[in-house]
Amino acid sequence: MTDDNELRLRREIVEVSQAMAARGLNRGTSGNVSARLGDGLLVTPSGVVPDQLTPDAIVLLDAQGGAPPGLLKPSSEWRMHAGLYAHRPDLNAVVHCHSRHATILACAGRAIPAFHYMVAVGGRSVIPLAPYRTFGTAELAAAVAKALDGGFACLMANHGQIVGASTLAKALAIAEEVEEQAAVYWGTLAIGGPNILDDAEMAAVFAQFRGYGQGG
Ligand SMILES: [Zn+2]
Repeated sequence: MTDDNELRLRREIVEVSQAMAARGLNRGTSGNVSARLGDGLLVTPSGVVPDQLTPDAIVLLDAQGGAPPGLLKPSSEWRMHAGLYAHRPDLNAVVHCHSRHATILACAGRAIPAFHYMVAVGGRSVIPLAPYRTFGTAELAAAVAKALDGGFACLMANHGQIVGASTLAKALAIAEEVEEQAAVYWGTLAIGGPNILDDAEMAAVFAQFRGYGQGG
């Protein structure tokens, strides 16, 4: 039976998938989106373009990837999503995409250093790069979980980017900012490279972030 929370998450996953396509973070069927639900997760199906996605097409999996019969196949990257939920109780939503500039850097083997204060949206002074592993494998899931460590975002070598957050809206916003930071960093590399902010400046940014918004 589908409860209100599950239905809300199914709708939000569709909205986030369509927003990723609309904002140019994704093309075709390459991205995937999930949300934690109880001990399992809801994840986008394999091979459905965001335009044609509906809430009932979102696949419910248990933590081992088991699904009730008769559903669409889950995203081939479901292990990556399930692995992050298993490692990180603070994450309730995961967004993965092949956004262009993040992917350019990932294919060049570059993490994003502290060249701009907004790199901090990833939760650390650097947006790290997970090593390359074949898509869809448990090895890739482990590499991503390790690279994400205590942060919210990482690049994935020769692949793309992945973001985990407490909500789907936050995960989408961080993925969009990671792509923007990747684009600007890429631009600085074309004109001799960026000036890097030092640890003290980045510590001040994190202090500002903690005081920013409501109740800080
Ligand atoms: Zn991918």
